[in-house]
Amino acid sequence: MDVHPNYIAGRWVASAGTLDVINPSDGSKIAEISRGGASEVDAAVLAGRAAAKGPWGKMEAASRGRLLLRMAELIRRDVEKLAALESDDVGKPMTVARGDAAVCARYFEYYGSAADKVHGETIPFQPGFTVMTHYEPHGVTAHIVPWNYPLQMVGRSVAPSLAMGNAIVLKPAEDTSLTALALAKLAEEAGFPSGVFNVVTGLGEEAGAALSAHPGIGHISFTGSREVGTLVQTAAAKNTIPVTLELGGKSPQVVFSDAPVEEAVTTIVRSIVHNAGQTCSAGSRVLVQDHIYDEFTQRLAKRFKALRVGSATQDLDLGPVVNAAQRTRIEGYLDLTRRDQLPILAEGAFGTNLPRNGYYVKPTLIGDVPPDHRLAQEEIFGPVLVALRFRDEDNAARIANGTLYGLAAGVWTSDLGRAMRLARRIEAGQVFVNNYGAAGGVELPFGGVKGSGFGREKGFAALYGFGVLKTVIIRHGV
Ligand code: NAD
Repeated sequence: MDVHPNYIAGRWVASAGTLDVINPSDGSKIAEISRGGASEVDAAVLAGRAAAKGPWGKMEAASRGRLLLRMAELIRRDVEKLAALESDDVGKPMTVARGDAAVCARYFEYYGSAADKVHGETIPFQPGFTVMTHYEPHGVTAHIVPWNYPLQMVGRSVAPSLAMGNAIVLKPAEDTSLTALALAKLAEEAGFPSGVFNVVTGLGEEAGAALSAHPGIGHISFTGSREVGTLVQTAAAKNTIPVTLELGGKSPQVVFSDAPVEEAVTTIVRSIVHNAGQTCSAGSRVLVQDHIYDEFTQRLAKRFKALRVGSATQDLDLGPVVNAAQRTRIEGYLDLTRRDQLPILAEGAFGTNLPRNGYYVKPTLIGDVPPDHRLAQEEIFGPVLVALRFRDEDNAARIANGTLYGLAAGVWTSDLGRAMRLARRIEAGQVFVNNYGAAGGVELPFGGVKGSGFGREKGFAALYGFGVLKTVIIRHGV
């Protein structure tokens, strides 16, 4: 059985302990990864600091960008390999995994092209002065990512930081570290100097906690749950460093009676079943205006009934969820539905020849959920869509904003004025009008408000977030 070492200072370094890697499609063990901890994290941060002070720190921006572009090419070359690895590791249908690998390449391409376009400004000041600003890297940035989109998350978090000139230490999720290690191999092949790209695998409470508390880190980018995000933010506060928190969501899809119904139904179903609902920005609450509620939910129900769940290789509408704990968590919400006698409007079905020990759940549509019910408030992180009714625009906005979260939202209406009013009024980092999801949308700033976190990833906003703005004030006389 393969045991995958960490990648530190350009070398493959095994830890004393290991962790099993399980294929969610059939519960089989497919590999072992290193159980890295404080000493591996320390070595990785030191390597990053040395690289940032060495050739990497002195490299011109265009050359840094070329390395990222080379990385994008290598990811594209290896799309099938990376997708197969991701599919085994996360349980993703191959079609989804291929898409994720392509988005990962896009991140390196986008930020590779942007590396030499990070401009400061000159600021008019008193006569006899010239004032300019420029961006400098933080030094070493930490990246702690979740298991739901490993390839996409690594690209999204790491590429802008490298483009800005930081060295990185990446801690992938313990359940799904294989593609992060494969990307480290590609970074080596692309020619990144040693110590620039480091990966330490291991448990969150060991490697993750050690990384967030390390005094040699200049910035932490964390994507994951609110609970762990709070721990990471606390650790960052103790070292007085900035942190970007990309946390969960309970994103509303608000459907008015004048919505483009067919497109809305197709997109809303796709957005909750894609990746078996394990998407932070999944549209997991559908708010439907009273007088079209019955008709609209019937249409949704018809689509849900046609959905088929299969193993990653069967490549059906959705695959398994990532592990047994996640399946138990989702089943807990379905038990709550039955206990509180909420109507289950539709369920998808398991496909034929489903492997026996995989972590499968049926996509489920639940109707008439009261806005304050736990099912309408909490992130289920599975293929479960809850439907709620609303009366008018005001009522819709209040329900949409009535959770702890604020990550994304969809508004479906043909009234542009209403769409614009709600786009401003809904508390979320992204609001989609008559569409949803943007399939990666690497150019589009993304992130949360309220309990969904703060800071922005994607687009130029992320690039600037990985830099420190310095102001230089020169007095040269008139
Ligand atoms: P998680 O918080 O359990 O784990 C995320 C990462 O944190 C993993 O790498 C884990 O090893 C690490 N970790 C765990 N304990 C730690 C600790 N004490 N110190 C430091 N690191 C630690 O989240 P998860 O279960 O992997 O992912 C699901 C959650 O992530 C959901 O809430 C989902 O909405 C959220 N998510 C958000 C986004 C976004 O962009 N907003 C994207 C994907 C997932």
